[in-house]
Amino acid sequence: MEINEKQITVTSPLLPDLGELNNLLKEIWTAKWITNNGSFHRRLEKELASYLKVPYLSLFTNGTLPLITALQALRITGEVITTPYSFVATTHSLWWNGIKPVFVDIDPSNCGIDPNKIEAAITPKTTAIMPVHCYGKPCDTKAIQEIADKYGLKVIYDAAHAFGVEVDGESILNAGDISTLSFHATKVYNTIEGGAMVIRDEQTKKRIDYLKNFGFAGETTVVAPGINSKMDEVRAAYGILNLKQVDAAISARRKVANRYRESLRDVVGITFFDDMPGVRHNYSYFPIFIDAEKFGRTRDQLYQEMKDANVLGRRYFYPLISEFSTYRGLPSATRENLPEAYKIADSVLCLPMHHDLSEGDVDRVLNFFHK
Ligand SMILES: *Cc1c(COP(=O)(O)O)cnc(C)c1O
Repeated sequence: MEINEKQITVTSPLLPDLGELNNLLKEIWTAKWITNNGSFHRRLEKELASYLKVPYLSLFTNGTLPLITALQALRITGEVITTPYSFVATTHSLWWNGIKPVFVDIDPSNCGIDPNKIEAAITPKTTAIMPVHCYGKPCDTKAIQEIADKYGLKVIYDAAHAFGVEVDGESILNAGDISTLSFHATKVYNTIEGGAMVIRDEQTKKRIDYLKNFGFAGETTVVAPGINSKMDEVRAAYGILNLKQVDAAISARRKVANRYRESLRDVVGITFFDDMPGVRHNYSYFPIFIDAEKFGRTRDQLYQEMKDANVLGRRYFYPLISEFSTYRGLPSATRENLPEAYKIADSVLCLPMHHDLSEGDVDRVLNFFHK
């Protein structure tokens, strides 16, 4: 294949119209209010809460700080049960709070933490569970909540992949005590860098707003050792514009997912997820799982073959978080404890998935499977 063919990337940022953005920038320049809970910040919080069907939401400057701040807000200490199959930020948020991560294996049917394996990992030091709705596929929130209630644990969902995901018309973001979102450039909905925390009640929302602004609860009162994680007006304005086009972007992604599925369904050695009944998916990623023996090529061979032809897949998530130097010494980080997570990490490849893929682009990806 000619190497100068256009590069197909695994993701591509959803960008607002430049003219419309410029109009909003003019408003910001006129107001001379560029951060600290300005009018675009307040407006985006309201619009997002309404779009996502959640009671309260607090904007953050990225998707990692709401994780760190949620643990602070709920005063989580000791040990937290979490998944090794995620982006490193999930576990890093525990480390930054001095909390010991306890890894539990995943359920290969949704790549989320396996509720059946949680109880065995609970000790007297366990204070919370931090699951991830991996690829935007809903965790078994009911089973997780039952365990949490039985043992008096908090549940914080890293919902970075789950923007707009609903189960039977209800937002998945309403599960647990707190959910966090990332609006990073690579996600379904982005504010360049950005994120949010989804909160159940007004009082906690107030506390979170203090915590993300150094703990200030007034001009001269600091109520907690807060951090600075405020979103500025420029990115809030950008976010307001992107929210108007996110549904169209999700539809475009659905089309890509359906073409992939149609074409890959009868390829021996390749498996993937179908839509779940009653779920509004966001098609944030399109992971496939490769059985090298049946497919005739290994995952890494396929990955490299695509890369050589300027088609970029991503081994997401590989390696497991539990394999990184910070965490590999933990008692729960062993291969014996995480057999399904290892299997999935060694076989997964995320195919290019974004709103801007043409039919020709999708054909170029699919050609690697039909030789
Ligand atoms: C992207 C992501 C984050 C981190 O979000 P940032 O906005 O990049 O800080 C956290 N967890 C998961 C699962 C993610 O995919």
